[in-house]
Amino acid sequence: MSIADNIIALKRETDLNNVTLIVVSKTKPVEDIQQAYDAGQRIFGENQVQELVEKYEALPKDIEWHLIGHLQSNKVKYIAPFITMIHSVDSLKLLQEINKQALKNSRVIDCLLQIYIADEETKFGLSFDEAIELLRSDEFAELKNIRIRGLMGIATNTDNQKQLKEEFYELDTFFDGIKQSFFRKDDNFDELSMGMSSDYKIAMEQGSTMVRLGSTVFGARVVKHWKNN
Ligand SMILES: *Cc1c(COP(=O)(O)O)cnc(C)c1O
Repeated sequence: MSIADNIIALKRETDLNNVTLIVVSKTKPVEDIQQAYDAGQRIFGENQVQELVEKYEALPKDIEWHLIGHLQSNKVKYIAPFITMIHSVDSLKLLQEINKQALKNSRVIDCLLQIYIADEETKFGLSFDEAIELLRSDEFAELKNIRIRGLMGIATNTDNQKQLKEEFYELDTFFDGIKQSFFRKDDNFDELSMGMSSDYKIAMEQGSTMVRLGSTVFGARVVKHWKNN
Protein backbone atom coordinates (compact mmCIF):
# COMPACT_ATOMS: atom_id res chain seq x y z
CA MET A 1 0.00 0.00 0.00
CA SER A 2 1.16 3.52 -0.77
CA ILE A 3 1.52 6.27 1.84
CA ALA A 4 -1.69 7.81 0.48
CA ASP A 5 -3.59 4.52 0.79
CA ASN A 6 -2.38 4.11 4.36
CA ILE A 7 -3.42 7.64 5.28
CA ILE A 8 -6.90 7.18 3.82
CA ALA A 9 -7.44 3.86 5.62
CA LEU A 10 -6.13 5.12 8.97
CA LYS A 11 -8.07 8.36 8.72
CA ARG A 12 -11.26 6.38 8.23
CA GLU A 13 -10.46 4.13 11.20
CA THR A 14 -9.55 6.98 13.55
CA ASP A 15 -12.53 9.11 12.45
CA LEU A 16 -14.85 6.22 13.28
CA ASN A 17 -13.41 6.23 16.80
CA ASN A 18 -13.44 10.03 17.14
CA VAL A 19 -9.68 9.98 17.48
CA THR A 20 -7.22 12.47 15.97
CA LEU A 21 -4.61 10.93 13.70
CA ILE A 22 -1.13 12.32 14.26
CA VAL A 23 1.23 11.06 11.58
CA VAL A 24 4.71 10.62 13.03
CA SER A 25 7.18 11.62 10.33
CA LYS A 26 10.47 11.50 12.23
CA THR A 27 13.42 10.27 10.13
CA LYS A 28 11.24 10.42 6.99
CA PRO A 29 12.14 12.74 4.10
CA VAL A 30 9.99 15.72 3.18
CA GLU A 31 8.92 13.91 -0.02
CA ASP A 32 7.18 11.25 2.06
CA ILE A 33 5.51 13.88 4.23
CA GLN A 34 4.39 15.72 1.10
CA GLN A 35 2.72 12.51 -0.12
CA ALA A 36 0.83 12.21 3.15
CA TYR A 37 -0.08 15.90 2.88
CA ASP A 38 -1.36 15.42 -0.65
CA ALA A 39 -3.57 12.59 0.65
CA GLY A 40 -5.16 15.12 3.00
CA GLN A 41 -3.15 14.72 6.22
CA ARG A 42 -2.38 18.00 8.03
CA ILE A 43 -1.17 16.91 11.49
CA PHE A 44 2.37 15.60 11.88
CA GLY A 45 4.50 14.65 14.87
CA GLU A 46 8.28 14.87 15.20
CA ASN A 47 10.56 14.05 18.10
CA GLN A 48 13.61 16.20 17.43
CA VAL A 49 13.69 19.98 17.38
CA GLN A 50 16.19 20.51 14.59
CA GLU A 51 14.49 18.03 12.27
CA LEU A 52 11.12 19.56 13.09
CA VAL A 53 12.29 23.10 12.28
CA GLU A 54 13.83 22.01 8.98
CA LYS A 55 10.65 20.24 7.92
CA TYR A 56 8.48 23.15 9.05
CA GLU A 57 10.49 25.43 6.79
CA ALA A 58 10.38 23.07 3.80
CA LEU A 59 6.70 22.09 3.87
CA PRO A 60 3.31 23.84 3.49
CA LYS A 61 2.47 26.27 6.27
CA ASP A 62 -0.97 24.88 7.04
CA ILE A 63 0.58 21.77 8.59
CA GLU A 64 0.03 21.47 12.35
CA TRP A 65 3.25 20.31 13.96
CA HIS A 66 3.25 18.37 17.22
CA LEU A 67 6.40 17.74 19.22
CA ILE A 68 6.18 14.24 20.69
CA GLY A 69 9.75 13.61 21.86
CA HIS A 70 11.79 14.75 24.83
CA LEU A 71 12.35 18.51 24.78
CA GLN A 72 15.30 20.33 26.30
CA SER A 73 14.54 23.76 27.75
CA ASN A 74 17.24 25.47 25.70
CA LYS A 75 15.56 24.36 22.45
CA VAL A 76 12.05 25.60 23.16
CA LYS A 77 12.78 28.94 21.50
CA TYR A 78 13.21 27.34 18.08
CA ILE A 79 9.71 25.85 17.96
CA ALA A 80 7.77 28.40 20.04
CA PRO A 81 6.82 30.56 17.03
CA PHE A 82 4.88 27.82 15.25
CA ILE A 83 4.40 24.62 17.25
CA THR A 84 0.77 23.48 17.59
CA MET A 85 1.16 21.17 20.57
CA ILE A 86 3.94 19.83 22.80
CA HIS A 87 3.08 16.31 24.01
CA SER A 88 6.20 15.73 26.06
CA VAL A 89 6.12 18.16 28.98
CA ASP A 90 7.78 16.39 31.88
CA SER A 91 8.88 19.12 34.29
CA LEU A 92 7.79 22.46 35.73
CA LYS A 93 11.05 23.98 34.56
CA LEU A 94 10.29 23.02 30.96
CA LEU A 95 6.75 24.33 31.25
CA GLN A 96 8.08 27.66 32.58
CA GLU A 97 10.40 27.95 29.60
CA ILE A 98 7.59 27.14 27.16
CA ASN A 99 5.49 29.82 28.86
CA LYS A 100 8.32 32.36 28.55
CA GLN A 101 8.90 31.66 24.87
CA ALA A 102 5.17 31.62 24.13
CA LEU A 103 4.85 35.04 25.75
CA LYS A 104 7.71 36.35 23.61
CA ASN A 105 5.81 35.18 20.54
CA SER A 106 2.47 36.53 21.84
CA ARG A 107 1.08 33.00 21.82
CA VAL A 108 -0.55 30.48 24.11
CA ILE A 109 1.02 27.06 23.48
CA ASP A 110 -1.01 23.88 23.95
CA CYS A 111 0.79 21.26 26.03
CA LEU A 112 0.23 17.75 27.31
CA LEU A 113 1.84 16.40 30.45
CA GLN A 114 3.73 13.23 29.61
CA ILE A 115 2.93 10.59 32.19
CA TYR A 116 5.15 7.62 32.84
CA ILE A 117 3.10 4.44 32.41
CA ALA A 118 5.55 1.91 30.97
CA ASP A 119 7.19 -0.88 32.83
CA GLU A 120 10.59 0.23 31.54
CA GLU A 121 13.45 2.30 32.93
CA THR A 122 14.36 4.42 29.94
CA LYS A 123 11.26 6.46 29.24
CA PHE A 124 10.71 10.11 30.06
CA GLY A 125 7.67 11.33 31.87
CA LEU A 126 6.14 12.36 35.16
CA SER A 127 4.88 9.89 37.73
CA PHE A 128 1.26 10.32 38.81
CA ASP A 129 2.46 12.01 42.02
CA GLU A 130 4.81 14.35 40.20
CA ALA A 131 2.06 15.44 37.82
CA ILE A 132 -0.25 16.24 40.73
CA GLU A 133 2.50 18.14 42.52
CA LEU A 134 3.17 20.19 39.38
CA LEU A 135 -0.50 21.07 38.90
CA ARG A 136 -0.85 22.05 42.57
CA SER A 137 2.15 24.34 42.60
CA ASP A 138 1.93 28.13 42.85
CA GLU A 139 4.47 28.40 40.04
CA PHE A 140 2.14 26.52 37.72
CA ALA A 141 -0.78 28.81 38.58
CA GLU A 142 1.24 31.79 37.33
CA LEU A 143 1.75 30.45 33.81
CA LYS A 144 -0.62 32.26 31.46
CA ASN A 145 0.89 31.47 28.05
CA ILE A 146 0.59 27.72 28.19
CA ARG A 147 -2.60 25.70 28.17
CA ILE A 148 -2.62 22.14 29.50
CA ARG A 149 -4.82 20.25 27.03
CA GLY A 150 -4.44 16.79 28.56
CA LEU A 151 -2.02 13.92 29.07
CA MET A 152 0.28 11.75 26.97
CA GLY A 153 1.68 8.31 27.66
CA ILE A 154 3.86 5.67 26.01
CA ALA A 155 3.07 2.09 26.90
CA THR A 156 5.62 -0.64 27.41
CA ASN A 157 7.17 -2.07 24.25
CA THR A 158 5.52 -5.47 24.58
CA ASP A 159 3.13 -7.79 22.74
CA ASN A 160 1.32 -8.54 25.97
CA GLN A 161 -2.17 -7.23 25.17
CA LYS A 162 -3.36 -7.49 28.74
CA GLN A 163 -0.49 -5.38 30.03
CA LEU A 164 -1.00 -2.75 27.31
CA LYS A 165 -4.68 -2.60 28.13
CA GLU A 166 -3.94 -2.12 31.83
CA GLU A 167 -1.42 0.64 31.20
CA PHE A 168 -3.80 2.57 28.95
CA TYR A 169 -6.67 1.98 31.35
CA GLU A 170 -4.62 3.38 34.22
CA LEU A 171 -3.74 6.48 32.24
CA ASP A 172 -7.35 7.01 31.21
CA THR A 173 -8.46 6.68 34.82
CA PHE A 174 -5.77 9.11 35.96
CA PHE A 175 -6.89 11.52 33.22
CA ASP A 176 -10.45 11.46 34.58
CA GLY A 177 -9.20 12.09 38.10
CA ILE A 178 -7.01 15.00 37.02
CA LYS A 179 -9.87 16.51 35.06
CA GLN A 180 -12.14 16.31 38.12
CA SER A 181 -9.53 17.72 40.48
CA PHE A 182 -7.90 20.45 38.42
CA PHE A 183 -9.81 21.16 35.20
CA ARG A 184 -13.47 20.67 36.04
CA LYS A 185 -14.42 24.06 34.66
CA ASP A 186 -11.98 23.90 31.75
CA ASP A 187 -13.38 22.39 28.55
CA ASN A 188 -9.93 22.56 26.98
CA PHE A 189 -8.58 19.71 29.08
CA ASP A 190 -9.83 17.04 26.70
CA GLU A 191 -6.92 15.25 25.03
CA LEU A 192 -5.41 11.90 25.87
CA SER A 193 -2.51 11.12 23.53
CA MET A 194 -1.86 7.39 23.65
CA GLY A 195 -1.29 4.69 21.08
CA MET A 196 1.42 4.01 18.49
CA SER A 197 1.49 1.69 15.48
CA SER A 198 1.81 -1.47 17.56
CA ASP A 199 -0.85 -0.65 20.17
CA TYR A 200 -3.20 2.08 18.91
CA LYS A 201 -6.22 -0.19 18.59
CA ILE A 202 -6.03 -1.06 22.28
CA ALA A 203 -5.38 2.59 23.13
CA MET A 204 -8.50 3.66 21.23
CA GLU A 205 -10.58 1.12 23.15
CA GLN A 206 -9.23 2.57 26.39
CA GLY A 207 -10.17 6.18 25.70
CA SER A 208 -7.41 7.66 23.57
CA THR A 209 -8.26 10.88 21.72
CA MET A 210 -5.00 11.12 19.73
CA VAL A 211 -2.94 8.31 18.24
CA ARG A 212 0.64 8.85 17.06
CA LEU A 213 1.35 6.61 14.08
CA GLY A 214 4.60 6.38 12.15
CA SER A 215 5.48 2.96 10.78
CA THR A 216 1.86 2.08 9.98
CA VAL A 217 1.90 4.99 7.55
CA PHE A 218 5.44 5.04 6.16
CA GLY A 219 6.72 1.54 6.79
CA ALA A 220 9.48 0.68 9.25
CA ARG A 221 12.11 3.26 10.09
CA VAL A 222 15.52 2.00 9.04
CA VAL A 223 17.39 4.93 10.55
CA LYS A 224 17.95 4.94 14.30
CA HIS A 225 14.99 3.75 16.31
CA TRP A 226 13.50 6.35 18.63
CA LYS A 227 13.88 4.13 21.67
CA ASN A 228 17.64 4.17 21.17
CA ASN A 229 17.93 7.95 20.82
C1 LIG B 1 8.18 7.30 17.09
C2 LIG B 1 7.08 7.61 18.02
C3 LIG B 1 5.77 7.22 17.72
C4 LIG B 1 5.39 6.44 16.46
O1 LIG B 1 5.91 5.17 16.49
P1 LIG B 1 5.40 4.02 15.44
O2 LIG B 1 5.64 2.78 16.16
O3 LIG B 1 6.23 4.18 14.24
O4 LIG B 1 3.97 4.30 15.18
C5 LIG B 1 4.78 7.56 18.60
N1 LIG B 1 5.04 8.24 19.72
C6 LIG B 1 6.28 8.63 20.06
C7 LIG B 1 6.50 9.39 21.32
C8 LIG B 1 7.34 8.34 19.21
O5 LIG B 1 8.58 8.73 19.54
